[in-house]
Amino acid sequence: MSTITIKAYGATASTEDLKPLNIERRQVGQDDVKIDITYCGVCHSDIHTVRNDWKGSKYPVVPGHEIIGRVVEVGNGVSNFKVGDLVGVGCMVDSCHTCSACQQDLEQFCENGATFTYNSPNKHIPGTQTYGGYSTSVVVDKQFVLRVPENLDEAATAPLLCAGITTWSPLSHWKVKKGDKVGVIGLGGLGHMGVKFANALGAHVVMITTSPEKGEDAKKLGAHDVLISKNQEGMKKHQGSFDFLLNTIPVGHDMDPYLALLKIDATMVLVGAVEPLKPFHGGSIIMGRKRIAGSLIGGIKETQEMLDFCGKHNITSDIELINMQDINSAYERVTSNDVKYRFVIDMQSLKN
Ligand code: NAP
Ligand code: ZN
Repeated sequence: MSTITIKAYGATASTEDLKPLNIERRQVGQDDVKIDITYCGVCHSDIHTVRNDWKGSKYPVVPGHEIIGRVVEVGNGVSNFKVGDLVGVGCMVDSCHTCSACQQDLEQFCENGATFTYNSPNKHIPGTQTYGGYSTSVVVDKQFVLRVPENLDEAATAPLLCAGITTWSPLSHWKVKKGDKVGVIGLGGLGHMGVKFANALGAHVVMITTSPEKGEDAKKLGAHDVLISKNQEGMKKHQGSFDFLLNTIPVGHDMDPYLALLKIDATMVLVGAVEPLKPFHGGSIIMGRKRIAGSLIGGIKETQEMLDFCGKHNITSDIELINMQDINSAYERVTSNDVKYRFVIDMQSLKN
């Protein structure tokens, strides 16, 4: 199949910095939408993949799954998008559409394997893997393109495509409601969206953080209270009081201190630690009939619902806009816990 060559940024090995690369994109097919990328968010998963933390990374890795842009071309079979539309692409670009997961609008769990936006086998250009949004354009199946409300700030909308849906989905699945006491663990890209959403749903939101200096920001973002997880007195005071915990810690950790915060029958959802966790004490969940659950992004239908909710309630991310050339220092800052609260790349910087 014929392809076009475009500019991108990626890593050629787990120990290498990201650098300019040329990559191939497929030509627009019958059901495809071609998007000129204007902004792309920087997710901690991008870093995990570049550094091969989860194993199985294929190089070059071109990350980026918080993509915002304008439609520049559509295939003959596309009637729901037109040139000029403001659109987004999140963590997935394809799935089988026929398995029971896809039928339930849970494409992220496609039984035949969802095609993720980067580092998945590329069905259209065999022998290569998918390349993400650290690039000037992308060609995506119309069913994986999201409509972005025009009233929202374009750059600040990018992180909704991953950080947004990843925190929205568990809050929605576990039916967090007005008056619930909700703890969001970890104030980074995901955590700051979790605080905003839990607040918008009417919950009493407690930011649970290792960083006392983030306390004031947490309150500006919508937290009603701040709990420093290293402070044992404070942790004891909140013991047995939470209806729901959203845990965004990006690495394996000891869950026992957090489980102690849950009420009877309450749930802690893990989204961050996609790796072995430290052993936890069975008594931590047996006492109080508590639950630990997991969650992976969200389906396409749910992602659209989240974006529409954000449009209605004027919710976006708090971002630091960077040029593509600044990406390596941004990665250092994310891993050293110094991001307020999501980096977004201005893709114009790659086009110049
Ligand atoms: P991030 O911006 O780096 O935020 C993570 C936050 O966790 C940090 O700001 C820090 O907050 C806290 N933290 C970091 N190290 C910690 C430690 N050792 N112990 C306790 N707290 C710690 O990362 P992110 O982009 O929000 O992503 C979070 C994780 O979710 C990553 O692992 C990412 O790969 C994963 N993820 C999962 C999904 C999914 O679908 N399940 C989707 C996207 C991302 P404080 O300073 O407040 O403590
Ligand atoms: Zn992500």
